[in-house]
Amino acid sequence: MDIFKAGSRPSGSGSADYFTGDVTTDPIVSAAAPARVAALRVRFAPGARTAWHTHPLGQTLYVVSGAGLVQKEGEAAVRILPGDTVWIPPGEKHWHGATAGNAMAHIAIHEALDGSNVTWLEQVSDEDYAAAQE
Ligand code: MN
Repeated sequence: MDIFKAGSRPSGSGSADYFTGDVTTDPIVSAAAPARVAALRVRFAPGARTAWHTHPLGQTLYVVSGAGLVQKEGEAAVRILPGDTVWIPPGEKHWHGATAGNAMAHIAIHEALDGSNVTWLEQVSDEDYAAAQE
């Protein structure tokens, strides 16, 4: 048994290659192979969001604080609030993040396929992000 005490594992930062704005990550589950599940808490400052991306085996998001947005390509963005759970099916192009005016934190849970749990695509443009606020 491993007990990871709060504060015992350092936070990370979302890479500017894949995120816009200030994004902080904290590990929850980093299972060794052959397990392939991973879970992390992700905190987005107001205005911060992921780039567009897909997950090979899907992803679950559980919102823990603030006010956020999630958008599936071709559909309007949806506002998400603490207690909301979002399931993103395998291969579905999407992004998630904070609203322009509020920070948001979610827990993200996903599995790796052939060692990868995400395929990053283009950034969410400021125009698309602004439209998502409405
Ligand atoms: Mn995702």
